[in-house]
Amino acid sequence: MPELAEVELSRRVWAVAEGQSLEGIAGHAATRIYRDFSLASLKRALRGAVLLGSRAHGKRMFFKFNTGGNGGAQWLELHLGMAGRLTRSEPGADRHKHDHFVLVTPEWQLAFNDYRQFGRLFLHPEGVDPVADLPVEVLAAEFTLGYVKAIQQRRAQRALKAVLLDQALFPGVGNWMADEICWRMGQDPAVPLGRVDAAQVRRVSRMVCRGALKHVADGNAGQYATDEGFSPGNYVKRTPPAGWLFRHRWKAGGRCPTCGTVLERGVVASRTTAWCPSCQKK
Ligand SMILES: [Zn+2]
Repeated sequence: MPELAEVELSRRVWAVAEGQSLEGIAGHAATRIYRDFSLASLKRALRGAVLLGSRAHGKRMFFKFNTGGNGGAQWLELHLGMAGRLTRSEPGADRHKHDHFVLVTPEWQLAFNDYRQFGRLFLHPEGVDPVADLPVEVLAAEFTLGYVKAIQQRRAQRALKAVLLDQALFPGVGNWMADEICWRMGQDPAVPLGRVDAAQVRRVSRMVCRGALKHVADGNAGQYATDEGFSPGNYVKRTPPAGWLFRHRWKAGGRCPTCGTVLERGVVASRTTAWCPSCQKK
């Protein structure tokens, strides 16, 4: 499932069209991505609108359009779900079978491609600013040691990994990033949060978020538009470096990149989890 850095990469794929107006809107109206908001309503609301700006936050993406012609703006929110991705091509280029939502500007054809249809999208009403009130991001200045200690105090008994997966607390951290953070902390993913060092939680989660953005969002920027999506097999080869657990956790018989021990697997916080039995203390 796309996490913070894959979402940011997708945002950048569409952001090249900022400042351009929509000349066409198309899609497959019957697909599940329209379960919150119909394609017909999107076509009506966005006709001729200009893409003003965009923002990624955790696993969510927001694209701001001027709509209605009276200076008003509306945010289109997109979730990639399990396997969604945003692509771009030239206007008139062939569309793929699973391009369920397509925006055409003078210079670009932007597509939301989602063969599994767990993704979703909806348009916030005019006057509603969904980005004004989002949870603190891990890389934000407000993610201070005091902030992390307050999280820890309220959830001292919860498993470290479960807290890392909580989108209200660590927006954008998903399964692979949570495993990476636990491994780099040398902690069992199931350890109660109250038993770990809050400063280490803060430092390592920020490092993994920063590194993921660098390796995934910056590192794939040039090639992503023609890629096959976010299933690990497709892009794990070039992201992140071999010293990350991420590169080894997918493979059967994968070994800890630090000590060479075969990784263990189990279910923690209802998610498939990989860890090193030598480096991560029980
Ligand atoms: Zn190890």
